[in-house]
Amino acid sequence: MVMGDLVREVDVAVVGGGPGGYSAAFRCAELGLETVVVDASRRLGGACLWEGCIPSKALLHVSAVLGEVERAKEFGVDFGEPRIALDALRKWKAERVVGKLARGLAGVAKAKGVEIVGGRGVFEDSRALRVEGDEPQKIRFKHAVVATGSAPSPLPGAALASDRVMDSTGALELSDLPERLLVVGGGYIGLELGQVYTALGSKVTLVEMTDGLLPGVDRDLVQPLARHCEKLFVKIRLGTKVTSLHEQGSQIEARFGEGDTVAFDRVLVAVGRRPVSAELGLETTRVRPDAHGFVAVDERCRTADPRIWAVGDVTGEPMLAHRAMRQGKVAAEAIAGRPAAFDTVVVPAVVFTDPEVAWCGLTESQALREGRPVRIAKFQWAASGRAATLGRSDGLTKLIADADTGRVLGVGIVGPGAGELIAEGALAVEAALTAEDLAATIHTHPTLSETLMEAAETLLRPT
Ligand code: NAD
Repeated sequence: MVMGDLVREVDVAVVGGGPGGYSAAFRCAELGLETVVVDASRRLGGACLWEGCIPSKALLHVSAVLGEVERAKEFGVDFGEPRIALDALRKWKAERVVGKLARGLAGVAKAKGVEIVGGRGVFEDSRALRVEGDEPQKIRFKHAVVATGSAPSPLPGAALASDRVMDSTGALELSDLPERLLVVGGGYIGLELGQVYTALGSKVTLVEMTDGLLPGVDRDLVQPLARHCEKLFVKIRLGTKVTSLHEQGSQIEARFGEGDTVAFDRVLVAVGRRPVSAELGLETTRVRPDAHGFVAVDERCRTADPRIWAVGDVTGEPMLAHRAMRQGKVAAEAIAGRPAAFDTVVVPAVVFTDPEVAWCGLTESQALREGRPVRIAKFQWAASGRAATLGRSDGLTKLIADADTGRVLGVGIVGPGAGELIAEGALAVEAALTAEDLAATIHTHPTLSETLMEAAETLLRPT
């Protein structure tokens, strides 16, 4: 077919089939709008399903199982040395986890009548998209949603094109298990995948540019994770940048700052992600990405171009799938003319390491920085019955509450299961609950959820 042969008219064209894009498309279709999704890979799921959240959590589950097996020795259960069949692990991840969910998404799209067009969408103006690639065509739309996501940032000043230098996508393929792995970046990805590779048998060195892991997160929440990583990893080098990478035969030599050079078998670069907004033809519309490539949107997710909406990583931080999904639904409702706004108070965040770290809303350090009068409650898991039964007393649950009203403004949790427990914190902040509300709610005994109630109770005691 010659490009341009086919011109189709739709109500909504969504560019990008990740969590933001498919959430927008599904809701548009439910609201009776004819909707197509344009995605270069001709499938839904985006980075989250194919090369991010889902495969990494599958591998982190394996890593958690291996951790539990090791811990079981403490209470007299010894399974012997684990044997890991990489082929079977890759197959399970690809077919039983990613493949299964992908088939589910494709089924939902079909059921809702959302068509997926394979190719790169490029705007020709504020009414039309050109699709380049497998299924070339022109799509005229009443509304478009930009949901193009983000891509891994290269290592500044030391980028090296080599199979041995991986980003998160490459690392999740598990093409082999390097004996010595260098992880650059002590954020979400560096810590999660650093732990996965350690569990599978690699010797991991982690380098972080700032003076602590997970910059921006309250230090008392990071400490139990940092302590565990110090045991797992060969070395953690804080306040250090990798200034050069050189391939020497089958190894990569990394130079740290102005100092020593160390050889590794592979390197994982996890120094952040950047929005994908270039080469989309946005200059033919009224959308103007900022200097970093982010597209500004209002509370309804509308860009500076009234026909064009944007959701997900391309609209800014935090680049998290659940924020994108909420934005997608808001944009769809707004396109359908319904009252909708991204007026969400909190976007909870979880680092799925061992132990997990999760937080939402105001952090203690932010309150301090902004001089906000708050009261902080901390409940150490050493006093939790459930934590004791799990052999995990190293956790902490903290609440950040308004000093006058007791309203819960933020919650932070570190410990196994923190990623699930934070949902109660998010609900508390979103629904403007007070510490008294949390304390007066019966929490099942013995569970880790009691730690939220216990933390709240400390705020009710006279100071
Ligand atoms: P990140 O922002 O979490 O961490 C990057 C880290 O690299 C920071 O600690 C930073 O100080 C450090 N860094 C930056 N430049 C450096 C350099 N030159 N040398 C050494 N260290 C350097 O980014 P990420 O880990 O790459 O993850 C990207 C994004 O993906 C996250 O911000 C998050 O939005 C998303 N993500 C989320 C999850 C989750 O929700 N569990 C998991 C993975 C990724």
